[in-house]
Amino acid sequence: MGGDLAGRHHVCSRRCAHGFLPPFRRSAEPAYGHARRRRPRAGPRGRQLVGGIGRSGRRTAPQPGCAHRAVGRPRTVDRGDLRHRTARSRDRRALPGSRRPSRRADGAAHRVGRGGRTQPDHRARRGGAGADVDERTVSDRGVRSAADHRAGHRRNCIDNRLDQHVVRATPDGQHVTARLLVRGGHVFDPIGGTAGPADVVVEGARIVDVGVGLDGDTAIDATGRLVVPGFIDCHVHVLLDDVDTLRLLQTPLSLRFFQAARNLRLTLRAGVTTIRDAAGADLGVKQALAAGLIDGPDMQIAIGMLSQTGGHGDEWLPTGECVHALWPPYPGRPSTVVDGVDEMRRAVRELVRAGADVIKVATTGGVISPRSDPRRAQLAEEELAVMMAEARAAHLHVMAHAQGAQGVKNAVRAGVRSIEHGVYLDDEAVDMMVKNGTWLVPTLSAPHAILRQADTSGGIADSTREKAAAALEAHEASVRLAHAAGVRIAMGTDAGISRHGENLRELELMNRLGISAVDALRAASTAAAELLDAGADIGELCPGKRADMVILEGPEISVEQLPERVRTVIHRGTVVA
Ligand SMILES: [Zn+2]
Repeated sequence: MGGDLAGRHHVCSRRCAHGFLPPFRRSAEPAYGHARRRRPRAGPRGRQLVGGIGRSGRRTAPQPGCAHRAVGRPRTVDRGDLRHRTARSRDRRALPGSRRPSRRADGAAHRVGRGGRTQPDHRARRGGAGADVDERTVSDRGVRSAADHRAGHRRNCIDNRLDQHVVRATPDGQHVTARLLVRGGHVFDPIGGTAGPADVVVEGARIVDVGVGLDGDTAIDATGRLVVPGFIDCHVHVLLDDVDTLRLLQTPLSLRFFQAARNLRLTLRAGVTTIRDAAGADLGVKQALAAGLIDGPDMQIAIGMLSQTGGHGDEWLPTGECVHALWPPYPGRPSTVVDGVDEMRRAVRELVRAGADVIKVATTGGVISPRSDPRRAQLAEEELAVMMAEARAAHLHVMAHAQGAQGVKNAVRAGVRSIEHGVYLDDEAVDMMVKNGTWLVPTLSAPHAILRQADTSGGIADSTREKAAAALEAHEASVRLAHAAGVRIAMGTDAGISRHGENLRELELMNRLGISAVDALRAASTAAAELLDAGADIGELCPGKRADMVILEGPEISVEQLPERVRTVIHRGTVVA
């Protein structure tokens, strides 16, 4: 992976609209410029595809094909916002380390000139004060660590802040400031279900413009490629590599966190820029990401899964031992096996206290729990009611692991936001989901993955293999039924049971069940963003939204061989793969 990246480390030393240092007066026609935008060209390509920031600084009116028509309308970005960002970025750009021009492998500094071509940057060879600064490590002065601290702090969110890091440290230790131009790709609009030729301009962690004939400091050539919003996976377990009980019992608890760091990196490189962890990851994992200690997507966490005795989260074995192979309780992850309203109330409160972004509950048995039946409903109505009351009090949604129809109905009636898996749906359950606006996160990848593991490792119980085999056909029929009835579907993979980094296979599986490529892509973009209550921030490529995007080989809107088509991944405005 890598994409055609030209001059991405260029740092301007002229004063521009963003307030960079002025060794020279700005000429009337700068050789390059941060804020310069060409007028849209006349003719068929002259049409602005989506609303952008016009010359007046106000976002232009949405045009035909615009992603803003219906839902997920982005906040207006006006010049005031840009000024605010400019002022703040000026402060940061005054840091000595932020002026360093990048160098290619041959050591030559380079920049992107007109037309995006890389040009040698002779200024960097002149020596003098600027060059001295270039050669010094900023951390010697304690400056970079302060900048990094601020950048890390700003990343700690899935919220709606427009202003993000404009100066960032790259893995090779350089600071970059840039308006990144993703040029000439076919930009996919999940709402309209179409793609058209357009450029995308990114500043800091945000998209600031989408249209034709745009310009930027650094460029990625996306000609002949499809540019899609960063994928969103609503059901992963980054603390799991697989469900081999024997292997898990031999794994020190701390090792699992290092494995999680690898899993997060694999997920991001696969093109998934936002995840919802459906049990396993705790607040420390989320904070490690936010602080920049590890690389990975933005994440929401459930921490644990509420379950009754004998339920899907109860790891009791017929020997009488309860081994905690999958979900060992520890200070960051409270025990979540509960019986009765009092225990339920306490457990939800403990999860909220531990930092959960969403409450996860199992209202049926499951496949990987050795003694539970996926078809049977679990937890009583009053237990679910108190769970909902506590979740609402904490302003959190509830996601329900639910496979059998009765457990699905109980969860929908209680008011959960999403049904996870939904293996044995019936007409009544589907009707209830449509009426209540309940989401389905199918995780079609999961039973396939369990059967594969059962063939290759010794730690999968026979009962688990049998339950997975029995679920396959019913699962597919249920997803078809739900889709036909108009149930809202968001992508989730159960990665951790399926392989991390192969998340996009889920969209191929959806497509094979008759879900169109456009609907599958929506399930991993706008729909998933809405499920995660993050629609104002992610899921589309338009001004004001977070610069999370994936460049796919070929311009066609298709999900066949999707993982193989990933060429470049941009997360929060930074090229990460
Ligand atoms: Zn799961």
